[in-house]
Amino acid sequence: MRRAGVIGWPVEHSRSPLVHGTWLKRHRIAGVYDRIPVPPDELETFFHDVASSGLAGFNVTIPHKEDAARLVSRATPRAVRLGSVNTVWLEGGEPVGDSTDGEGFMASLDATTPGWDADPIEVLVIGAGGAARAIVAALAERANVTRIAILNRTPTRAGRLASDLAGLGAELEAGPLDDLHRRVAAASLLVNASSLGMDDGASVSLEGARPDAVAAEIVYVPPVTPFLEEAAARGLRTVGGLGMLLHQAVPGFERWFGVRPCVDGELERIVRADLSSGGP
Ligand code: NAP
Repeated sequence: MRRAGVIGWPVEHSRSPLVHGTWLKRHRIAGVYDRIPVPPDELETFFHDVASSGLAGFNVTIPHKEDAARLVSRATPRAVRLGSVNTVWLEGGEPVGDSTDGEGFMASLDATTPGWDADPIEVLVIGAGGAARAIVAALAERANVTRIAILNRTPTRAGRLASDLAGLGAELEAGPLDDLHRRVAAASLLVNASSLGMDDGASVSLEGARPDAVAAEIVYVPPVTPFLEEAAARGLRTVGGLGMLLHQAVPGFERWFGVRPCVDGELERIVRADLSSGGP
């Protein structure tokens, strides 16, 4: 029986077992996907012993994504660029890592809003943390994304992100969150890639946004954040954060269990119901 799982500390709240468990049932695969609590001081040993663990691979969540990038034997170019790994598989007993958050964000956007990048566009990204980094890298490689403005509460962090990811394609500019009002009108895609609205009920004003803009959120608890409410009230098309969570899981499942699973309305309903019930 193939075994996979998610390592983290703590890991009880991860929804990955529900997502992968639903796909295992759907495809009648005799496999398991577990929560694997790994404290920070045991992470190195975990990677060292992984060949004998019986795992086909695993996901990595908070707080191990950066350390995992250091501990894998090899990482994909995008994981190296981001210094972050969330998906690991074994090749010849050696752990190999990838970062699929950016791919998950793009897949969710493409699935819900086809044609969002049909014409050359400018993007505004709020946030400069780990998730923003993955999203900016993925967006910057899209042919029709010409410029990305990265605005963050701590502007130096946005500046670092822009200089680290320079040269991928799109032009990157960094600034403080206070610049939002000045920059919002130029953007056809507005992304909240910060934790704003996750547990503080906070948002930003989208006054001046183009009426044809798309507003994409990455926070998925609550399912409708103040950012999404504000965008919807202005008549913008909106994309919630749950899709990214589900789509980033697809490449790992395919590697470990040999079937490319599908993100659909039924899976979304299952995970949404679990989130609204307070989960595990
Ligand atoms: P992170 O590395 O800790 O970065 C957090 C970001 O949010 C930073 O840019 C931070 O600004 C900003 N921020 C936090 N509180 C703020 C506030 N009150 N006002 C303005 N900016 C604020 O976290 P992360 O890993 O990037 O995750 C960010 C969010 O995305 C989390 O809510 C996480 O749950 C969610 N997420 C979702 C998915 C998905 O699959 N949908 C995947 C990954 C993450 P400073 O730099 O100024 O601190």
